[in-house]
Amino acid sequence: MTALADLLLRRIRAGGPLSIADYMADCLLHPEHGYYTTRDPFGVRGDFITAPEISQMFGELLGLCLARAWQDQGAPAAFVLAEIGPGRGTLMADVLRATRAVPGFHAAAGVVLIEASPSLRACQKATLAPYPVQWADSIDVLVEKPLFLLANEVFDALPIRQFQRHAEGWQERLVGDCGGRLAFGLSAPTRMAALEHRLADTAPGDIVETCAPAQAIVAGLAARIDCHGGAALLIDYGDWRSRGDTLQALRRHAFADPLADPGKADLTAHVDFEALAEAAAPCAVAGPVPQGVLLERLGITARARALAGRMTGAALTAHVAAHRRLTHPAEMGQLFKALALHPRGAPPPPGF
Ligand code: SAH
Repeated sequence: MTALADLLLRRIRAGGPLSIADYMADCLLHPEHGYYTTRDPFGVRGDFITAPEISQMFGELLGLCLARAWQDQGAPAAFVLAEIGPGRGTLMADVLRATRAVPGFHAAAGVVLIEASPSLRACQKATLAPYPVQWADSIDVLVEKPLFLLANEVFDALPIRQFQRHAEGWQERLVGDCGGRLAFGLSAPTRMAALEHRLADTAPGDIVETCAPAQAIVAGLAARIDCHGGAALLIDYGDWRSRGDTLQALRRHAFADPLADPGKADLTAHVDFEALAEAAAPCAVAGPVPQGVLLERLGITARARALAGRMTGAALTAHVAAHRRLTHPAEMGQLFKALALHPRGAPPPPGF
């Protein structure tokens, strides 16, 4: 049993079952035993690979997309260029390299990374050593300026709660102690105002998920972008409206039991883009657009050809596979989607 499993079981015995959100939050970010706090999970040797780790093209195109949105809003002379959950810092490094040639963009940008894990902050510092970069704990402390922001595969790591439909309302799925092992259980049924609208499209036994932290972050972003200008590109896997249990654990590129080894596996859930779009008022929302469609519209095929011209052998084969992996509907192209927030008076960022 992991040290975190032991700790969670003791907490459950003392205070009763945990919500899945409480369980997820500790598994991912517990100061001593959390998954992101204790390791670098990315890459072939890690547990999963994200789009910026697959190819530099991802960050280059999103960087130019943000730079174009900045130009479309009159190229404000001072703005915040931010990323939430930057992982190894690869995406921001690609963004900064690709936008070097955009006149005035770097001079106007103050780069801020919002990262919860100290070990990943250190990793980002090494990757982004050539650039002046600051770190923040949350978007709430950013300076009051136009905000151009990216978040890739971050909202899927935010803690969700699950509710199972019952004839009398909803039962929350909880994590409890079953004979000394962590096990799922259900709360007593209650009516829930926040899920009243889901009574129409669910039947008893169906599960829906909510993610209050994701909605709070989007509401905060939207208030800033509406007030000061800017844009946010939120990319993740998920769909329009939460349906069913999507909590999953990944360890060494394979699915695992989410309760088996708390703190040792990545835990995620699909992002509900409908809930994010609803939280984005008063901003305008564009998308969600499938990742493959967005990258094609931003010119990934032309960029892939240009890069391929300088490659041969195994590097070329890997490059062609990376292009396909990012864009093909059977790979990341359809499951992953991008949502853009922008001011009501400004055009949506290119590609949306
Ligand atoms: N965007 C990166 C990493 C995705 S993994 C990429 O595409 O490769 C999720 C990232 O979000 C990690 O850096 C993790 O530490 C961070 N994270 C998780 N929860 C967070 C939170 N509540 N606030 C800020 N960062 C968070």
